[in-house]
Amino acid sequence: MQPTTYDIFRGKVMRTSFLLAVYAVNCMITFIPCAAAAPSTSPTAALGTFGIDTLQMDRSIEPGDDFYRYVNGRWLENTPIPADKSRYGSFDVLRDKSETDLHVLLNEHIKSPQIDPTLKKVVDLYISWMDEATIEKRGIEPLKPDLDRIAAVKNKADLMELIGSPQMSAPFGFGIQPDPADTTRYKVFIGQAGLGMGRDYYLNKGAEYDAFRAAYQNHIATILQLTGDADSRNSAAAVFELEMTLAPLQWSPARQRDVQATYNPMSREGLTQLAPNVDWPVVLEASGLGDIQHVVVGEVSAIADGASLLDSVPLSTWKKYLTFHRASDTASLLPKDFDQANFDFNSRIMRGVKEQRDRWKRGVTLVDRNMGDGLGKAYVKKHFPPKHKAQMEQLVNNLLTALKTRIDTLTWMDNATRIEALKKLATFDPRIGYPATWRDYSGLIIKPNTLFENVQNARQFEWERRVSRLKEPVDRDEWHMTPSTVNAYYSPLMNQITFPAAILQPPFFDANADPAVNYGGIGAVIGHEIGHGFDDQGREFDENGRIRNWWTPATLKRFSAATKELGEQYSAYCPIPGDDKTCVNGALTMGENIGDLGGMQMAHTAYRVSLLGREAPVIEGFTGDQRFFMAWAQVWRGKSRNDALLNLLLTNPHAPEMVRGQNPQRNIDAWYEAFDVTEDDAMYLHPDSRVRIW
Ligand SMILES: [Zn+2]
Repeated sequence: MQPTTYDIFRGKVMRTSFLLAVYAVNCMITFIPCAAAAPSTSPTAALGTFGIDTLQMDRSIEPGDDFYRYVNGRWLENTPIPADKSRYGSFDVLRDKSETDLHVLLNEHIKSPQIDPTLKKVVDLYISWMDEATIEKRGIEPLKPDLDRIAAVKNKADLMELIGSPQMSAPFGFGIQPDPADTTRYKVFIGQAGLGMGRDYYLNKGAEYDAFRAAYQNHIATILQLTGDADSRNSAAAVFELEMTLAPLQWSPARQRDVQATYNPMSREGLTQLAPNVDWPVVLEASGLGDIQHVVVGEVSAIADGASLLDSVPLSTWKKYLTFHRASDTASLLPKDFDQANFDFNSRIMRGVKEQRDRWKRGVTLVDRNMGDGLGKAYVKKHFPPKHKAQMEQLVNNLLTALKTRIDTLTWMDNATRIEALKKLATFDPRIGYPATWRDYSGLIIKPNTLFENVQNARQFEWERRVSRLKEPVDRDEWHMTPSTVNAYYSPLMNQITFPAAILQPPFFDANADPAVNYGGIGAVIGHEIGHGFDDQGREFDENGRIRNWWTPATLKRFSAATKELGEQYSAYCPIPGDDKTCVNGALTMGENIGDLGGMQMAHTAYRVSLLGREAPVIEGFTGDQRFFMAWAQVWRGKSRNDALLNLLLTNPHAPEMVRGQNPQRNIDAWYEAFDVTEDDAMYLHPDSRVRIW
């Protein structure tokens, strides 16, 4: 069960992770060519004159042959990926801007004495990150208590207590989420965990993967050596072997998307029957969950089989495993040798990044992840005009109306299912900009010279906050992204769509842009998030967020046939140059692809409705529909390093940007009309082969 949230871009928002990177610098100060200066008859769009950066097009390409290159060709030709990035594109430019905005804010607050106690903590956390001299001087000392605890493990009972601790690794992990059987209450979830790389990196055959595995084993040795292990080579071999044994027991990312198979409510007794070699009372107690009687188990066989390794693998290996993961998880908070080793493996080798990001940028990310609401409140005050919120609310309403119109007329859906779909649509809860209530950090201890402890305190504070809520009703006001995050998400359990302030900027949304561009940009993103309520997973949750199949068999059969065709379209893309074997996984990316297709269709309908029967004006030679489709391709303008692309294809439910920018419109008749695309064009699909879902 993954009763989490589904975002537009990188992945699911998991229990401890708001792991979406935020970077810095806006168009004005990067090397990327900025859009042509707009005529001074302000107010004008930020990109080009009407919202599309037309100077970056390649007009020598036929739109029907390669629409993505037609819109973005010159940008793709001329834009290198910065040395400190694994990918670069529209999202990243905006993330750079967010990062700079937060940095300026932080510096303003550092300069003026802090009266607000939360802002004082935010500033102290950032200062503790920037104080490299103190980090070096303290050396490994902050990690010492954890290393001592691991070293003191004498028997299996000791091990049980350690693997229950929230900061330690294990073949399973705990999360706290609303219960899909009753979304007004929280439940404890247990899911598979404990690997240092994506599962397929352990299982796939070939020289390329052998090299990743060798590099990982080296990395384990480096980290263990830094912790003082005199026999780090042999220790690393044992830890690596353990993970090689664990990996095939785990479920694939595609299988993890099975909503029903991953929802297994259990009592404590059930848990003991499932994995009898785990001392659950001790493990739960160590997690702070000592009085919990019922849990939900995700990947059942992976948890049972993974737990059995606690007996079959020697205790000494488990101790090395715990040491490695603890040091690796906290490497960025430790002296430079640790941090560098972490970068070399996780960024350079796994994602092809050439250089570490500037320290201040990483500091901004650290603050955003650990005290996001503290800085977020100041961020929206400065960067999110109330006018934008009102405009967005209007757009969201138009999109919801468009979907209602479409549901009313869908031919593949029977009436019984249609009634349920409309019920679900009626309870959609859109949230824009920032949360109604900000998180209270008053119990969190932060000091300007103890980085390691600060981050541990923040993580523990967050975990305890979640544990303490187990007895309370679900908080529907909670946000799983900070306002400065360039992303958006859908939560099936809350039936909520959430758009942080930072994504409501060009090229997604521009108050001064042509409406066609806003509909093709943020409009389609809104539609994408709404679409998650009705994708292959969303359809299993009803209007109250409960797991309930509300589809009749006949409708489901027709829906499944359409999604199968869509999966085949995406599986045909193999985007890594020179590698025709590693392709998009149509099953893993299904929900996101349905979201993109449905999102564009809804946004297009909404755009046409907004014209009130009039024809849109032609701007710079482009019709309204042309500008709409171009905006979507511009949003997905980007490129990735090959290793990053490989990582994404193996582990991520989203298809790569060049595929997302290219494929959805091939299924929309209006795109063919807008650009006069015919069977002579490479992207042409016969009308019978166009997938029509929402
Ligand atoms: Zn999505």
